[in-house]
Amino acid sequence: METNSCGPASVIPHHDETVSSWLTRWLGEHACHHSEFLARLSRERAELPYALRAEPDYPRVPGWSRALASSAGITPELLDRIAWPPSPWVLMPVARRSVCVACLGEDGAITSQYMRQSWTDSWRTMCRTHSLPLMYAPAFGWGWGQVSTEVRRAHGALMRKPYTLVKEIKAGWARLPTGLTEAPFDAELGLLEAWGEHYSRVKPEDTGSSGNLRIWEDLLALCTCNWAPSTDEIPATASLPALLVGRNRFFRGLRLPAFQGRCDLGRFRSIEDPAVRRTALLCVADAMLDISSRPTNERSRGGSSWGWRRVAAILPPLAWEWLDRRSREWPPSWRQRVQDWRAVGSG
Ligand SMILES: [Zn+2]
Repeated sequence: METNSCGPASVIPHHDETVSSWLTRWLGEHACHHSEFLARLSRERAELPYALRAEPDYPRVPGWSRALASSAGITPELLDRIAWPPSPWVLMPVARRSVCVACLGEDGAITSQYMRQSWTDSWRTMCRTHSLPLMYAPAFGWGWGQVSTEVRRAHGALMRKPYTLVKEIKAGWARLPTGLTEAPFDAELGLLEAWGEHYSRVKPEDTGSSGNLRIWEDLLALCTCNWAPSTDEIPATASLPALLVGRNRFFRGLRLPAFQGRCDLGRFRSIEDPAVRRTALLCVADAMLDISSRPTNERSRGGSSWGWRRVAAILPPLAWEWLDRRSREWPPSWRQRVQDWRAVGSG
């Protein structure tokens, strides 16, 4: 590649950073525009700009790391080691907008802020370092330069002093009933077990998820797809406890025009607000408890009636038909649950 005009200094990726985050930092440090950089790459490898737009964090196109590294003055191994997705259920690229405010605060200067790989996982909505909920952020670090002045103005504290928000988020989270603040961790543990079970039985020729993981996948899709064109609210919203209905920043439903794509996990993985995904995870974790017939103790949930059975009560016939079809792939002993839930809905 020809000598690049963006400057010689190297920016080393953090071990837990995403590729696009490192590239944004490198471009920022060298006052180099993203489109200029991609145009230069395309002269070297025509398919690279498209491949990096389609998957900016976990690229699979051959030779991507060598081309990027030679432009940036680092070794390709430094990029290869950070290009593995934390799980097969990472967020769609446009939805990777979750951050831990405490982590950003610890990064120091705005220009040092970086995206952690774990924030790109659709089913991880808590920071494992700080035990705080991830929050939606329109940008971070050098990325603030790519959003409008209005957006920067609306998120001044998040942009300049994220550490000042930590106290507020901690206090707001602590005010929630304990059952609710523990539930996202329980949901993640439940999914980790399902991943473990899946990987212990999966064969090279298998495609798709198996066992409990399959149930998680189907129920997450079910409760985040709009089933009636007349409603702009996803079913998971119905699972919220009464005290959270409205504009709670940690748990919320979704009011958006009906999703046009197929109903599958792609819907869940395209939700950028972690508060909406957290709500869906709680909803499905509650259904999984129901499947394992653990007795439900309403008082342990903060005295509110909430959870999966409230979603079952509002699902339209179309959704049940979809679930009937999908549950044919579930472990046989659990298929009966779908009929039980449907009876709750029609009763
Ligand atoms: Zn954190």
